[in-house]
Amino acid sequence: MAHNLQSVLLFGQPGVGKGTQGEIIGSIPGFVHLATGDMFRGLDRDSELGQEFIKYSSQGLLVPDELTCRLWQQYVQGLIDTNQYRPNSDVLLLDGIPRSVAQAELLDSHIDVLRIIHLVCPDTDALVERMKKRADKQGRPDDADEDVIRRRLQVYHDETQPVLAHYDPSTVVEIDAIGLPGEILQKILNSIIPVARDVIQNPLG
Ligand code: ADP
Repeated sequence: MAHNLQSVLLFGQPGVGKGTQGEIIGSIPGFVHLATGDMFRGLDRDSELGQEFIKYSSQGLLVPDELTCRLWQQYVQGLIDTNQYRPNSDVLLLDGIPRSVAQAELLDSHIDVLRIIHLVCPDTDALVERMKKRADKQGRPDDADEDVIRRRLQVYHDETQPVLAHYDPSTVVEIDAIGLPGEILQKILNSIIPVARDVIQNPLG
């Protein structure tokens, strides 16, 4: 497995807009968006791993760290093998990982964190409403049930929030997640382009 993958982390509570922003930025040459939620949802539901994922996500819980990181490594390797991600000239935009301190430690030997974009939304009720709305649109059963959503927010608070302290504070940029997607995008790009420039030598190559 490759190491020193030059990475930007998208960080923030469930529903804060990481996926929306990640997808847009991932369409820019030189950036590769990897969302672990999508990775898990792409598993065959009838497979052992797929069942394992459903067992945890349907309760609003995290998939165990070892399994998550092992799958993540295989997934990254798959992107490299299929030329969808070129570690020498692409920045990896990680969305949804690391989600616990243990995961951050497991990832330390693989990634260099150039920037952490912390999307912030103090209005938790607004996030819950957003998630309920997207449940049907995206076919996400874990978004349909308010109890499960609240559990996910709690798990974020207890297990994911402490991840920030694992990294150098100078890499963290807080961005207000309320506003037009275009405005938020602009702020994110302003803070990641300068650190990504050195990595992205030949974006169209
Ligand atoms: P959200 O950010 O809206 O909570 P995601 O689409 O990122 O949702 O993830 C959906 C589910 O996938 C999570 O609730 C969790 O069960 C699982 N998952 C995603 N990423 C991780 C991770 N890094 N570690 C453990 N579980 C994860």
